[in-house]
Amino acid sequence: QSEIMAGKRGLIMGLANDKSIAWGIARALSEAGAELAFSYQGDALKKRVDPLAAQLGSDIVLPCDVSDEASIDSLFDGLKQRWDSLDFVVHAIGFSDKNELRGRYVDTSRDNFLMTMDISVYSFTSVMQRAEKMMNNGGSALTMTYYGAERIMPHYNVMGVAKAALESSVRYLAEDLGKDGIRVNAISAGPIKTLAASGIGDFRYIMKWNEYNSPLRRNVTIDDVGKSALYLLSDLGSGVTGETHHVDAGYHVVGMKAVDAPDM
Ligand code: NAD
Repeated sequence: QSEIMAGKRGLIMGLANDKSIAWGIARALSEAGAELAFSYQGDALKKRVDPLAAQLGSDIVLPCDVSDEASIDSLFDGLKQRWDSLDFVVHAIGFSDKNELRGRYVDTSRDNFLMTMDISVYSFTSVMQRAEKMMNNGGSALTMTYYGAERIMPHYNVMGVAKAALESSVRYLAEDLGKDGIRVNAISAGPIKTLAASGIGDFRYIMKWNEYNSPLRRNVTIDDVGKSALYLLSDLGSGVTGETHHVDAGYHVVGMKAVDAPDM
């Protein structure tokens, strides 16, 4: 697999630090020979993203706040100045008010519902509107989701509703863009300790539960996600689109607590 991405250029959105899922994906793609560009949200993150990008030989690091259409436009304007075409996009972005990632879903406010849907769902569609125009030779796009879209998970609340919408949008985007040879997929990752995850109530308990009860009896890493992302973004995934692929140590196929799992 060493040079499977040679000659391919892609944009990584959602890198915050070296714990980010986007980092695991970027590393796997870079090792496979891909050329990468990065977007970051806000000046505070630039100083973290610049050195990480440099580590993978990239000097294309552009700001983008996905809640602002003009900011997405300027990201793609910046990208076009460097590249005339794009082969893949990674969207590893989600956000909700952490005060509503605990307690009851029914108490979600209208403002936070709309903001969560805007940043965590619509942004992927908005990005694909621009990316489509640069994907001259077909392409592959990937977003990140979680099992809380399919089943009730503690504290996930409005984020679960947003991820369900995101997974549905993956299917509609796959249909619209498939005619141009652009594939669109999601990875449903098991819980991983990142900045975004730290906002979710009782996250440590959720990690333990997954470790004790998933068929592989462990949690997944950003490297596990990176390897599966490489499959979906490369020619190895050439026949796959509209899919939500679980990278969760098998947790989503489990029906009840494992017999050997410790009491928690
Ligand atoms: P992270 O905190 O490292 O990454 C989240 C990123 O979203 C950050 O880079 C942040 O800057 C970006 N972001 C938030 N609002 C933005 C905005 N308005 N404009 C631009 N960027 C914005 O955490 P992560 O866990 O790597 O999250 C990446 C994706 O993976 C998210 O969609 C998350 O829901 C998903 N995911 C995470 C887990 C987990 O357990 N960590 C599991 C499944 C799915």
